[in-house]
Amino acid sequence: MSILSDVFKSTKAVILGMKRTLSEIPREKWTVQYPDVPVTVQPRYRGQHLLHVDENGKEKCVACYLCAAACPSECIYIEAQDDPRPYEERVGRDERYAKVYNIDYGRCIFCGFCVEACPKDAITHGYNFEISVYNRADLLKTKDDLLITKQKQSKNYRVALSTEDVDSEYKEVDSVGIKFRL
Ligand code: SF4
Ligand code: SF4
Repeated sequence: MSILSDVFKSTKAVILGMKRTLSEIPREKWTVQYPDVPVTVQPRYRGQHLLHVDENGKEKCVACYLCAAACPSECIYIEAQDDPRPYEERVGRDERYAKVYNIDYGRCIFCGFCVEACPKDAITHGYNFEISVYNRADLLKTKDDLLITKQKQSKNYRVALSTEDVDSEYKEVDSVGIKFRL
């Protein structure tokens, strides 16, 4: 009896599964043949961070540590450096900048708290999601990996068009793609 019951249950499960599979066949397909076809990300997508610079290429970060303090994963490491030289000769926009700025993506949970905490709009989330590595140590990204002027953007994504004024303080999405306000 129990064997018959098992057979009945298993057959019913297979039939229900096949019914679900067959019902999906005529529907629109959402599978993307990545990386042959770019993935579409939404405007508010939180990818790898970007450290921003001003219109003259000076780093906006003043090494105030607020982002590191706000980070629940404690994955931001900063070393501050005073730079009292004139603006034209400085690394950053202000008289202090982050000599070291590291984010450990082995710990980051992409919560965005660091972005919200920053008083200088110096850090935002970009769209780059291709940060897989074979060595865990390589998940530690340095300032050179994060600076908007140095970070390599993948060709394997496009940003969805949006009529919403989403994150417009630092991102503008148009028909061409994305522009970052410096
Ligand atoms: S996104 Fe969240 S976890 Fe990642 S660095 Fe920023 S505050 Fe930390
Ligand atoms: S990124 Fe923003 S919050 Fe973080 S240290 Fe720099 S200025 Fe401060």
